[in-house]
Amino acid sequence: MLSYRHAFHAGNHADVFKHFVLFLILSYFNRKDKPYWYIDTHSGAGLYHLEEDQAQKTGEYRQGIARLLAAQTLPAELEQFRQHLQNLLPQPQLYCGSPLLAQSLLRPNDKLRLFELHPADFPLLRQNTAADRRIIAKQADGYQSLISLLPPPPRRAVILIDPPYEQKQEYRQAVQTLGAALSRFATGCYALWYPCLSREESRSLPAELRKLPAAHWLQAELHAHAPRADGFGMHGSGMFLINPPYVLAEQLAANLPALAELLAQDSSAHFVLEQHGG
Ligand code: SAM
Repeated sequence: MLSYRHAFHAGNHADVFKHFVLFLILSYFNRKDKPYWYIDTHSGAGLYHLEEDQAQKTGEYRQGIARLLAAQTLPAELEQFRQHLQNLLPQPQLYCGSPLLAQSLLRPNDKLRLFELHPADFPLLRQNTAADRRIIAKQADGYQSLISLLPPPPRRAVILIDPPYEQKQEYRQAVQTLGAALSRFATGCYALWYPCLSREESRSLPAELRKLPAAHWLQAELHAHAPRADGFGMHGSGMFLINPPYVLAEQLAANLPALAELLAQDSSAHFVLEQHGG
């Protein structure tokens, strides 16, 4: 079952948070000359048109990227992120997915490996990335494909795992995939995105992730509003990072208060930042 289409949610509060964290990680990786790989297990289409029907139907981007673009003052790294997006996408009706954001940050000798299963989104991803020889995009299962690529030849990689969590078992699958990936490539920088929902699988995921054999992890969450009384909907989202850049915790501590305030939909908006090791 592949009913999830990211075009309905592109540019929402979770995308802004996730893409900001990804921007910080890739910017840090660029500080060293040594090439690296970027692996995106669940790529989506790569580029989204916010004026088209899908994004307009939910209007979620209005409480996400539209707020970031309109913000008065921002802390240093959030301002750099905004400027990067404005240079990449001069037309405000376009918003990038993780593959195009990564493509814009990687250097000529770095490589991108992208996976997307959806029969409608994969052709869009291929079309949006075809001209770039650093990129190989495949219509394949991202979990299995990730394991088959590890360890990557340069022994330096950023891996984004961004599932739709349409089905309950995806929570377990995400944890198991990270466990298998760590056993093949323990030094990779892994970034798993997850939704903060009222359902039990979502609430217990961080505790399961903390049991993984990772010496250094960082957990960051951004909650845009309180959980709804009926238990439906996504009130926030999180990133569980394994082997993050050593500067990331400090950068997030300096920027998440402003981001939580900017993306707040009620007075209970807040962020969470916890780490182990490092
Ligand atoms: N990473 C994208 C971004 O930040 O722009 C958004 C990805 S979206 C949340 C999840 C995507 O995963 C959807 O496009 C869906 O079709 C795709 N998908 C679902 N199951 C998959 C699987 N097993 N392997 C690869 N892609 C999958």
